[in-house]
Amino acid sequence: MSVPCVCVPREAGEATRRELAAADLLDTDHEISVEDDSIYIPVTDPTAAAARVDADVVVRDAPERDAQVTPADLLGYEPGYERLGDIVILDEDDDERAREIAAALVESDLPVETVVNRASKVKGELRVRDWDVLVGEETETVHREYGHAFALDIARVYFSPRLATERHRVASQVREGERVFDMFAGVGPFVVPMAARGAEVVGVDLNPDAVAYLRENARRNGVAERVTALEGDVREVSGEYENWATRIVMNLPHSADAFVETAVALAGDECVVHYYDIQHEDDPFGPGVEAIRAAAEPEYEVTVETERVVRSYAPHEVNVCLDVRLTRRDQ
Ligand code: SAM
Repeated sequence: MSVPCVCVPREAGEATRRELAAADLLDTDHEISVEDDSIYIPVTDPTAAAARVDADVVVRDAPERDAQVTPADLLGYEPGYERLGDIVILDEDDDERAREIAAALVESDLPVETVVNRASKVKGELRVRDWDVLVGEETETVHREYGHAFALDIARVYFSPRLATERHRVASQVREGERVFDMFAGVGPFVVPMAARGAEVVGVDLNPDAVAYLRENARRNGVAERVTALEGDVREVSGEYENWATRIVMNLPHSADAFVETAVALAGDECVVHYYDIQHEDDPFGPGVEAIRAAAEPEYEVTVETERVVRSYAPHEVNVCLDVRLTRRDQ
């Protein structure tokens, strides 16, 4: 049967499918198909789907899917969950409900190895959270994001699949030959795609487990020769990179303001800083811009190129990103 399908390059398939699923635009009655280097994803509303993922829609034959048993079929309601590799992550306050959903996930046709429920907020300097492991034992997995594979252990490092689109937005700006410094690199979800675009990238993290995964992920994705991973407090270990960077990533949103002076020291003559922050919705960008201006002026001209709300974080609080260009003034 002929149905409308979004057409994207193969490597963008999984991310596009997720984006369409999040917007409830997937036509789940028909199969996704692959031909040559393109993937065709059936959609319910071609106009909305094309706008959502900025891709072409074509009409083509797609076989009907065998009906699969979903967790919702078994539960009678649609449970909320996220997938990270073969781990399913729940965010349920009610333990009984979490266990009911975990049982339905296992009984459904979804491929599931481990089901965990959030047992704390992300906490401490390393931003790792506690988990209740409801099914399976393994908290280590390999997660794919925009064509790259990231090994990680959710019990030992920070990682949020929700930031995939935002990371892709930033990584897509990188040009071959750039020098990028990621001050809070985690397991490398900015570092790896940026190195894959031809940049030389330095990633720092305080968490030794994150640095070990960062190195492994650089190797796993074939970019190790362009990646340097440093372990420690970025304020203490980045000295040899002063005046070096053409681009800096600062993804430590609760306390980025404490690191702007280090960022300015790392910046070369012309440098774009991607500054993540969490602020009240009434003034989400003001405090970040002020902190950057206070550290960079008058040595640099400061131009705010993008003010972007990445996601809602808590009632009246938003996670935002500022893309700020620093241009050194003539002395
Ligand atoms: N950029 C990664 C990502 O998107 O998944 C990780 C972001 S996570 C919010 C912040 C990271 O900063 C954590 O991995 C934490 O261990 C690290 N960190 C915290 N304080 C640090 C410091 N002073 N110097 C270097 N890394 C630090």
